[in-house]
Amino acid sequence: MATVNELRERLKRPLERERASGYQDDVVVGGLEKLVATVGRPFRDVQEVIAGYGDLSVEERAERLERALGMLEPLTTSSDVWNTREPDKPDPDRSNPEKSDSDKPDPDKSDPDPHLLDEPLETQRIDLGQQAPKKLGDIGIVSYRDLIYSFPKRYEDRRVIPSFSALQGQDTATVAGTITGRKATKSKRGLVVLRAFLEDKHGAKLTATWFNQPWLEKQLFPGSRIIATGKVKQGRGLELNVTSFELDDGTESLSAGRIVGVYAAKPGLSQAYIRRAVDRLLQAVSRFPDHLPKTLLERYDLVSLDEALRAIHFPNDERALQRALRRLKFDEFLLLELRVMLSRDTSLLGKQFRVRTDDLKTFESTLPFTLTKAQRRALQGILGDMESPKQMARLLQGDVGSGKTAVAAAAMYVAVKNDHQAALMAPTEILARQHYLNLTHYLYPLGLRVDLLLGTMGQRDRREVRGRIASGEVDVVVGTHALIQNDVAFYRLGLAVIDEEHRFGVEQRRKLLQDLPDVLVMSATPIPRSLALTYYGDLELSIIDELPPGRQPIKTRLVNDSKRRDVYRFAWGEIQKGRQAYLVTPLIEESESETMADIVSTTQMYDDLRLIMPPACRIEMLHGKMSGEEKDDIMNRFRARDFDLLVSTTVIEVGVDIPNASLMMIENAERFGLSQLHQLRGRVGRGEHESYCVLIAGDRSKKTQHRLEVIEKYTDGFVIAEKDLELRGPGEVRGTRQSGVPDLVLGDLSQDGELIEQSRELAKKMLGADPKLDAAWAARLKAELKRRSVSLGLREVI
Ligand code: ADP
Ligand code: MG
Repeated sequence: MATVNELRERLKRPLERERASGYQDDVVVGGLEKLVATVGRPFRDVQEVIAGYGDLSVEERAERLERALGMLEPLTTSSDVWNTREPDKPDPDRSNPEKSDSDKPDPDKSDPDPHLLDEPLETQRIDLGQQAPKKLGDIGIVSYRDLIYSFPKRYEDRRVIPSFSALQGQDTATVAGTITGRKATKSKRGLVVLRAFLEDKHGAKLTATWFNQPWLEKQLFPGSRIIATGKVKQGRGLELNVTSFELDDGTESLSAGRIVGVYAAKPGLSQAYIRRAVDRLLQAVSRFPDHLPKTLLERYDLVSLDEALRAIHFPNDERALQRALRRLKFDEFLLLELRVMLSRDTSLLGKQFRVRTDDLKTFESTLPFTLTKAQRRALQGILGDMESPKQMARLLQGDVGSGKTAVAAAAMYVAVKNDHQAALMAPTEILARQHYLNLTHYLYPLGLRVDLLLGTMGQRDRREVRGRIASGEVDVVVGTHALIQNDVAFYRLGLAVIDEEHRFGVEQRRKLLQDLPDVLVMSATPIPRSLALTYYGDLELSIIDELPPGRQPIKTRLVNDSKRRDVYRFAWGEIQKGRQAYLVTPLIEESESETMADIVSTTQMYDDLRLIMPPACRIEMLHGKMSGEEKDDIMNRFRARDFDLLVSTTVIEVGVDIPNASLMMIENAERFGLSQLHQLRGRVGRGEHESYCVLIAGDRSKKTQHRLEVIEKYTDGFVIAEKDLELRGPGEVRGTRQSGVPDLVLGDLSQDGELIEQSRELAKKMLGADPKLDAAWAARLKAELKRRSVSLGLREVI
């Protein structure tokens, strides 16, 4: 069988002759299209370009042929095109002739079949073991590419595995030992505690414990070796509360003695299995082709894609891991930037409103406060857009409680005064109800008719509301997404406000913008301006960078869990004063074998509190397993002061506003991210009452202590985001963060400022020189852009 390189040559020559002969399509019998069809899969992109060649005009043929030839060009040589655009920068290749030789593609390391990676595992073209398609399919890995791009979610440093005697005084550790025995017992609370007795190679002993995972008993055979990571405890003897472990099945080279990636696995699918599959795949592919030319890699100090993909799975050291992350994040941002820039459509038209000073005065006169300078500035920007015939596409950003809703209400008032309707979309029904109350509060006194439309309302109610929307009886409608997606016909929609606590992908936003008139997006995520400009590159930006005056800072205290009772006593005091309180517990991730004993679950907490708190204290519980209706009901009753204390998981995190609540208690605070803690704290201090936030933390290291102290010390979300970055170490690169942005897997908008700046600069330059990325060198980049759009289920931008 011919190699890809041979096929490429076989194809290139006739195409070049075709060019020389003036595009007559007579160099091969049957025409070029037929010839190209014979070379098969590796050149599918060329086939696409040449399809229908015989029927084209000479000009079109010339254009197609050049594109096809570009695709056949090895990337590295044509990337010089890029370099010549940058005369002021020294060209590393040219100043170093030896280097540019090594730049030539190595014939033995030609690209693998470009479509191979996208094949389903079922084809078994790369042998990952008979069971691989099924086993990996269970965790969503369908193609070879999925496997390569399923990066570890965190890393454990197992380069040096300490002997048991060296564990004294350590917080967490990874150990290796042989199982000498095991025992399962039931605690009083009905918790199953599983113990395995381990011996290290010096004969020292340690007891490994698991909570509530009885099924593990079958796996822990005496005589087998395990590698376990967990919390070191000094009980009667040395103990390890295991958070993750692996049986050492002889693949030690992948699982021990190195920095080891830990994947998102499932019961029944071991870490070792995934690691071995990835390793086999990496062995089978000689080189992953790069979509960036070498010159660019050097300029931006990036390792090759090949190196990055290998190192992200099996890093030799921390530096290699960091370099791999840097490269892969850069790709994510670059491709995101390109997509944002390519999809921007500034030609859309919106409404053209008349803004009358009198209307604004009227609006302000009914407010119980005066707008802050920052609110005024933001409003000016918004009104400017509303006056212009172009569509408003603006982001209103401001920390929790900065007064975004009031600004949005003013804009809605203006729209209604121009004989249009306004709509506000919230991410959840709880928030929709809340916005409905707030907007009614602002707008009802001005004679506006505000209505609410929710998916969970009864058929009849919904039909009635829809009727009022269609007839124009209603001026302002609040609802969830259903508001714009379903059978809702507006009489005259002029302004749509979107409360984007959950973030949209670029593409979803683009669709929204296309379907809507003037659009205002609100976000409370504290990300620095440059980053906001990037991710929201298709929106204008207004920032409210000032809190309303007289806002009392929320008194924040960090306490040990031994002080829990004092905290509860304090809570009861607040409740007796007529206030209400939240108590938030961390979410239990079922997929992870966490140390149950350390997590205070919602239900448990609720039960405990019923016993601890005075009987007069009315307590309710809210957790993620409840239906939307149930959650809504609880929140409404909390708002109505039907009860005093709400025990909940983080489902209340998003902008819930209950002004009478003055105390936020957070259990196991060490398990939350800093910005999450900041958001949670923002749930109190929303009314006139002095408010408090108490972080209750279990055992914690110095580092955790420092992290939590940031929340205690600072109140500004932007500052907290920055401190968070300073404090995070390499092991946590991918820790608990959830970007919430479908385009980003590794990249983090609030953390990767430098990379974002660089990739943005590059994307701008690329498109400045070549608006549709048609240059030959960019073919692979373009293909990558396409591929990612498709895998994200998005429209292709080019
Ligand atoms: P955000 O939506 O940004 O979280 P809101 O608009 O909900 O903030 O405002 C938070 C609280 O601050 C509300 O109770 C609101 O009435 C109040 N508020 C808004 N603007 C001002 C202001 N300029 N002065 C005083 N209080 C304000
Ligand atoms: Mg709000």
